[in-house]
Amino acid sequence: MSGLVIFGTRPEAIKLAPMVASIRDARSAEDVGVVCTGQHAEIMTQTLNSLDLDVDENLNLMQRDQTPMEVVERIIVSLTERYASERPDWVLVQGDTATAFAGALFGYLGESTVIHLEAGLRTHDIHEPWPEEGFRQEIARLAGLHLAPFPCARENLLAEGIGAESIQVVGNTGLDGQQAMLAQLDGDDAAWLPDGDFVLVTMHRRENIGPRLEATCRQLVTILDNYPDLRILWPVHPNPKVRSTAFQFFGDRKDRVMLSEPLDYPKFLHAQRAAKFVVSDSGGVQEEAASLGTRVAIVREKTERPDAVDLGLTRIVSADASGLVDAVNDFMATPVDPASVAEWRALQGDGNAGEAAAAALLKKIENDQAVRQRA
Ligand code: UDP
Repeated sequence: MSGLVIFGTRPEAIKLAPMVASIRDARSAEDVGVVCTGQHAEIMTQTLNSLDLDVDENLNLMQRDQTPMEVVERIIVSLTERYASERPDWVLVQGDTATAFAGALFGYLGESTVIHLEAGLRTHDIHEPWPEEGFRQEIARLAGLHLAPFPCARENLLAEGIGAESIQVVGNTGLDGQQAMLAQLDGDDAAWLPDGDFVLVTMHRRENIGPRLEATCRQLVTILDNYPDLRILWPVHPNPKVRSTAFQFFGDRKDRVMLSEPLDYPKFLHAQRAAKFVVSDSGGVQEEAASLGTRVAIVREKTERPDAVDLGLTRIVSADASGLVDAVNDFMATPVDPASVAEWRALQGDGNAGEAAAAALLKKIENDQAVRQRA
């Protein structure tokens, strides 16, 4: 085997799929292994059904109520048992999850070249989001090639002393298949969406579960009171603590609030495009919704996607959503600026980021091989 792609969660699968397809076009199948750690179980199966991403092995490591420490430990042990003897030349990880961190550490300790897709996103606060900011900062210390989705990510890496020659801005692979995915559903009637104007809600961040999530639900109740024609669509994350809070507040508000299972990826894109606005603590949703012309109230203290905030497409409303009412009043009163949406899309590349990322990886591996042969 020459390379190993390691992923474990929904956003990693979505953002790796276009890049892996391009790598596989260029290399023989035996050359590239794709392993899923199974950090997310149910929603991963659903996501993979919508994507063109063939997985060679699923390690099925998810356990109920797992902590990040346990996940990292299980992944390191399992990858070592299963793949250390194959000594991959390169290991590709994406983003900021426990899987990405453990995969990068596995690659680094096995002397593989670590390639990091979606490198350089920063809030500069290792507790927000936790543990993702710590994971991505550590991955940057281990990676030999940093594939940044937009220019400010490159600036962050340079400021940390990463050499310019190992950074490439390739664009956001998350946007690559977006239009094709949406086209899959464009012919369908949208009967499954709430009638009229609706707010799309997603909440899953570990550091927000508990009092912050309850405070956010109270703010959402106020929004429903303030705007009697507005409905909520909330595809609830499978985390039992998120589910119990969502159902405790809205389980008996079926007239106005649709609590659903997580939506498959094309349907979720469709919902982001159709929503009046989005309320979310997600990272990827900030990118996607804003690219589709829908504004996002970010239920967090900080974001690693400041350009969308500067363009007026996203707004931080605090992790307890204390700024939500003001943000919603603005979102309801003012239209989205199409020029800002176009600018945000342009910052994330031309929709061929997967190809650019794969080309950068293959070039890096060729160069490394040439250097080894000369030595
Ligand atoms: N997503 C999905 N179905 C849902 C909610 C989200 O397919 O019901 C997708 C969404 O389109 C985006 C990704 O999941 O591409 C975001 O993942 P998540 O919010 O779990 O993680 P983050 O981006 O915060 O790391």
